[in-house]
Amino acid sequence: VSAQAALRLAQVDLSEDARLAAAKLELAQANRILANEGILDALGHVSVRDPTNPNRFLISRQLSAALVTPKDIVAVDLNGDAVSPEVQNQSLFWERFIHAALYQKRPDLVAVLHSHTPSILPFSVSSTPFRPVVHNAAILGEELRVWDMRKKFGDTTLLVTNMAVAQDLADCVGSDTGCLMRGHGVVIAARSVKELVWYAMAMDLNAKTLTTAQALGGTTTYLSKGEIAAFAKAQQGVTSALERQWNYWLSRADLAGFNE
Ligand SMILES: [Zn+2]
Repeated sequence: VSAQAALRLAQVDLSEDARLAAAKLELAQANRILANEGILDALGHVSVRDPTNPNRFLISRQLSAALVTPKDIVAVDLNGDAVSPEVQNQSLFWERFIHAALYQKRPDLVAVLHSHTPSILPFSVSSTPFRPVVHNAAILGEELRVWDMRKKFGDTTLLVTNMAVAQDLADCVGSDTGCLMRGHGVVIAARSVKELVWYAMAMDLNAKTLTTAQALGGTTTYLSKGEIAAFAKAQQGVTSALERQWNYWLSRADLAGFNE
């Protein structure tokens, strides 16, 4: 089934197979968008809760985002284990537990991203807080806090390779949009894949703007609490701007291999 055909099918046919195929397609598209826009590089990953089973999530097998196609997407349970007997845990991402712990802790979440986006990394090791300065980034909330694995787990590789560490990270996220990971990257989560990609792009733009503004010297003007609240309120139920952005990012992405 071609990508476009799968989408059309999902719109009229609500069978489990059709919904699963549509979710895999959208997640593969998100991988290509995030790679193309510089959010994901060789490493990092994005997932979506399985629309046919809330106790599972869909994620690519161990593969760089720029190379992911819908057929590379596999199901993983909320302990981080592969669901299908044909898929070995060794072929999954080491840090898949990040996703498992967040879906376990937050039933409201539908999509999760873990990335090492270069623009955000300085804020994970600096005392300068990551707070919104550009309007779009208001959607991220008042501040993304920094999770430091060393506080609880001592000297490690900084990688999140088991559920105990992942649950500690999920505790840091709490009810927020995400959390910076000291010396490592970021995790952000949303209520849909499209929303998540938007958050990631807003995060990147905000990080670049904030870094550049601070390099200019002088004082930095952050969005106020009231502005952040006003933006969140204005976004409720509005999908047209999100669709417009998604279609733009998708038009720029390389979808080679999708119809093979
Ligand atoms: Zn990582």
